[in-house]
Amino acid sequence: MKFTTDKIVFDFCKDNTPIAAIDVPATIEVATKDCFSNQLREPGDTLDALDWDDTNPATGPIFINGAEPGDTLKVTIDKIDVDAKGTVCAIEGEGTIGHKVVGSHSKIVPVKDGFAEFSDDIKIPIKPMIGVIGVAPEEGSINCGTPGKHGGNMDNTMVCEGATLYFPVAVEGALLALGDVHAVMGDGEVGVTGLEIPADVTLTVEIIKGQAPEYPILENDEVFSVIVSKETVDEAAEAASELMLEFLKPRMEMQTEEIVMLMSLVGNVEICQIVDPLKTVRFVFPKKYMTRAEF
Ligand code: CA
Ligand code: ZN
Repeated sequence: MKFTTDKIVFDFCKDNTPIAAIDVPATIEVATKDCFSNQLREPGDTLDALDWDDTNPATGPIFINGAEPGDTLKVTIDKIDVDAKGTVCAIEGEGTIGHKVVGSHSKIVPVKDGFAEFSDDIKIPIKPMIGVIGVAPEEGSINCGTPGKHGGNMDNTMVCEGATLYFPVAVEGALLALGDVHAVMGDGEVGVTGLEIPADVTLTVEIIKGQAPEYPILENDEVFSVIVSKETVDEAAEAASELMLEFLKPRMEMQTEEIVMLMSLVGNVEICQIVDPLKTVRFVFPKKYMTRAEF
């Protein structure tokens, strides 16, 4: 099943009309526009002319038959095919170093043979990732620029090929949507953009009955990770640590204090992004130290 960018949304909301209803398990292909709705694709395109109302689109939402509140939506990222060029920006007043920037600047960066050609001398190996992916919250609308318990704009470099995400289903059908792929991005996304790029994403979607996590959980071959977004990095780090402890307790044959010791030795608190309305932090724990390394 293939979904084009004809139908997009700018928020995660239970009132959005689904573009389709699918039976799962299913593998689907979803095309995504970049975070500027592909408005900055040619050398002459400028941020000054950008229609900001048409930014951060997500393709979807897709209604997952059988997904009910309290369930877990399991989404495995099989493949991310990115376009032949992406866009990166430096914008006055935006991000953690925008106060050092004068004016609005964007740059088109060609992507060829697995490298982003930033300049003649600097070629960066790409690691495509999905910036915005999530499900509808129980109530209200959350714009696609904001992360949260529903996922959304987590801008997490670990949301890449081979990763599996576990989302808490809050509404009937879950209402999965995604967009904002980056060909490459540094942790923090300090200048407010990654290498923003249109993409085709292949995902495998499944339902796990019950077990809804509080915040999205990520798994790959090596680790489990809890992804938490809060007003501050400090709050997010504390909540991510707590949630990882709760996640580990039933999966380890150890007292709480022993788990905390282990978390302190081999667990990593890492920054996803620090430039969106809420800051996103992940707690990453290696599976090899878990007694039962499964969701
Ligand atoms: Ca983003
Ligand atoms: Zn982006």
